[in-house]
Amino acid sequence: MSIQVLKPKFHIDECLQEIRECLEKGWTGMGYKTVEFENAWKDYTGHKNACFLNSNTAGLHLAVKILKQKYNWSEGDEIITTPITFVSSNHAILYEGMHPVFADVDEYLCIDPADIERKITERTKAVMFVGYGGRVGKLEQVIKLCREHRLRLILDAAHMAGTKVKGVCPGTWEGVDAAVYSFQAVKNLPTGDSGMICFADDADDKLARELAWLGINKDTYARSNQGSYKWKYDVDHLGYKYNGNAIMAAIALVQLKYLDEENERRRKIVSMYDRGFADNSNIQIIKAPYAQECSFHIYEMAVPDREALLSYLASYDIYCGVHYRDNTEYKLYNYAYGTCPYAQEISGHLITMPLHMWLSDEDVHTIIKAVNAFYEGK
Ligand SMILES: *Cc1c(COP(=O)(O)O)cnc(C)c1O
Repeated sequence: MSIQVLKPKFHIDECLQEIRECLEKGWTGMGYKTVEFENAWKDYTGHKNACFLNSNTAGLHLAVKILKQKYNWSEGDEIITTPITFVSSNHAILYEGMHPVFADVDEYLCIDPADIERKITERTKAVMFVGYGGRVGKLEQVIKLCREHRLRLILDAAHMAGTKVKGVCPGTWEGVDAAVYSFQAVKNLPTGDSGMICFADDADDKLARELAWLGINKDTYARSNQGSYKWKYDVDHLGYKYNGNAIMAAIALVQLKYLDEENERRRKIVSMYDRGFADNSNIQIIKAPYAQECSFHIYEMAVPDREALLSYLASYDIYCGVHYRDNTEYKLYNYAYGTCPYAQEISGHLITMPLHMWLSDEDVHTIIKAVNAFYEGK
C-alpha cells in the first residue's frame, strides 16, 4: 500500500445521516445546518461570532474589506504579511487594492515580529498572521506590536482548527480582529469547501453576514413588517455570494465531533517523527510552541536535498509533498523578491511528510526508517 502525504478521513455514515436530514427537509442552502454549525463552532472555540462561508479565501477577503472600510484605509496602504503561505492570504490583500509588504518568517515558519517591526511604515495598517501548520508562532508578540503601532490584526487560521494555548483558541485572544478558518477538503476539519470568519466585533460580524450574501439586509423589513412583507428586503452593499451551505455544514457538524481526538493522533505522529529524526543531522525539525495543544495540520522539515529525497521515498511508495513556496517567487509578488532571505532560503528545502488519520504507527516507523536510510546510504 502506498502512503500519501495528505488524506482526509470522513465519518461517512454519520455524515450521510446529517446530509440525508438536509435532503429530506429539502434544505441544502444557507440556514438550518449552517446556523447549527456556527453555534457548534462558537461553543467549541469560544468565539463570540462565527459566520459560515464557502471558503477561508472568501473570509480573508471579507476581513480585509470590512476592516478597510471601518478604519478608512486607502488603496495602496500596506498590510504586512508572510511569504510562506497559501496565496489566499496575500490575494485577499490585493482584492481590496491594498499593498502586501512581506516580512520574514521565524524558526516556526510564522511571520517574525522582529521583521514586522522593521517593515512598518506610515502606510502600514494591519498584519496578516498565518498560524502556519497550526502553530501559534510568536502571535503574542505580534499582538503586542500591533497594539503599540495601532495596527489591526487578521489571523489566517486555515491550519488552526483545534489549536489551543492553555485551553484557549488563539483566534479569540484580545487584539485579533478577525480569525478565519478553512474547512477545505484536506484541512483538519475537512468538508468539501467551506470556511468560517470570526470577528471580535459584533458590528463587523453583522456586516460580514450581509456582504457574504450579496449585501442583502432583511432586518429593516423583518422588524417593521411581519407577515405580508416577509419577502421584502433592502440591499445596502455590493456584496458577494460567499455564504456556506447546509450540506457542507452537515459534514462539518460531524467532523467537529472528532477534531480533538484526531488532532491528538496528529500530535502523536508528530512526536514520533520528531524523535525519529532527532539524531539525523541532515534534518532540521520545525518546532512548535505549545506543541501539546497544536493542531499540526502539516509536518514539514528542512532537508538539504529535497528532490532526491522525494524521489527516493517515492521508489518505496511513500509520497511526500512540497507545500507552499515563498510567495515572492511568484510573478504577482515578485516585486518583493529578496526582502525575506530566511523564507527564500528555507522554502527550497521544505518537505511535507505524510500526516493524517490513515497512518498506522507502523507506517510512521517505515517512513522514518526510509528517510534515515536515505541519509545513511550517502
Ligand atoms: C487552505 C488555505 C487557505 C484557503 O482556504 P480555502 O478554504 O481553500 O479558501 C488559506 N490560507 C492557508 C494558509 C491555507 O492553507
